[in-house]
Amino acid sequence: MDALSIVSVVGCRPNFVKIAPLMDAMTSHRGIAPRLVHTGQHYDESLSSSFFRGLHIPEPDVHLGVGSGSPGHQTARLLEGLEDYLEAVPPDLVLVVGDVASTFAAALTATRLGIPVAHVEAGLRSFDREMPEEINRVLTDAIADYLFVTEPQAITNLRQEGIAAEKIFFTGNVLADTLRRSWPSIASSDVHSRLELEDGDYAMLTLHRPANVDDPRRLAHLAAIIEELGKRVPIVFPVHPRTAAQLGGLGLTASLDHVRRIPPLNYVDFIRLLRDCRFVMTDSGGVQEESTMLRVPCLTLRENTERPITVTLGTNELVGFDGGLILESARAILSGPPKLRRTPEKWDGHAAERIVSALYEHRTEIRELYRGVRSRQVRAREPGVRA
Ligand code: UDP
Repeated sequence: MDALSIVSVVGCRPNFVKIAPLMDAMTSHRGIAPRLVHTGQHYDESLSSSFFRGLHIPEPDVHLGVGSGSPGHQTARLLEGLEDYLEAVPPDLVLVVGDVASTFAAALTATRLGIPVAHVEAGLRSFDREMPEEINRVLTDAIADYLFVTEPQAITNLRQEGIAAEKIFFTGNVLADTLRRSWPSIASSDVHSRLELEDGDYAMLTLHRPANVDDPRRLAHLAAIIEELGKRVPIVFPVHPRTAAQLGGLGLTASLDHVRRIPPLNYVDFIRLLRDCRFVMTDSGGVQEESTMLRVPCLTLRENTERPITVTLGTNELVGFDGGLILESARAILSGPPKLRRTPEKWDGHAAERIVSALYEHRTEIRELYRGVRSRQVRAREPGVRA
């Protein structure tokens, strides 16, 4: 039998950190022929190229160059580019990771073309439909054929949405694989000396969710709290371009006088700083999980999380936007002994192998699920539809 051809689709920074170990596992599997599509949602050096280089992700087979834009326009360009590519050279399966616009666009395009879909990091739910990522998660899971989950709650969520148990695989967290394979480079990073930071004597901050940075009042409120905290502990803030633009546009940059603002970091330097900091404040999904893996206290600047295991077992605390609570939680971390925390099950550095093995074991079923040729014939017969 021919190798199982799998096209993986990535578009943004959170996708890159997840696809690295999966591409590794697929490339070294003799029964799998992987290809990689970069949609180009993130396209610059700091959010894209540095991740491909630093995480040794193979060059994409195609770059769709969709760029940024309003959600509707961007989705239109994603659907168009993905349809052209997948129709021209259809694989046996399309694999998507995470919850960004490229994730859902690729799942939708593949499904319409009759190509089975695998979703890595399925079943996470914040139950907050105002988050664009939540919509991407729900829709992707509704049409995916193979759903790989990172934590048990995701299984419950998917079952409650009527997803059949046979489609769900508890394979663990690929972010743990990425951490493991980069560990030697993380250990030898000289980011502390480059930034002239004493090991451990600082906190970290990341902020990029639309709900936090696109709302001027929320952003000004958070900036005031963070500045206040910056007077008590040095804060290092790698600023996402979206956040930098908002802070600049609102004239808030100058108010962050006690906060060390730096450009986004590459993965290795970022994790090295995270590993050694006193605590991190974040609204990032990935950082909530990475801080749990590194046992670094995490204050999440949101009212909900789709990653509840980082709170129940890990180091995460949901602090929302209440200045008093944020300052008090930071004070408790800085003055008290660290809480005992556990690493969640299957966050062991072998998730990608488990996912790739499961796909290979299901190769016959995947090919039976493939409806590509049939659906193209149907499309050609529909009146007014281009063949
Ligand atoms: N990250 C990084 N440099 C930074 C900020 C984040 O390397 O300056 C990494 C980190 O590993 C994180 C990943 O980028 O898990 C994706 O984070 P992001 O906050 O962009 O996305 P989310 O996880 O919230 O979807």
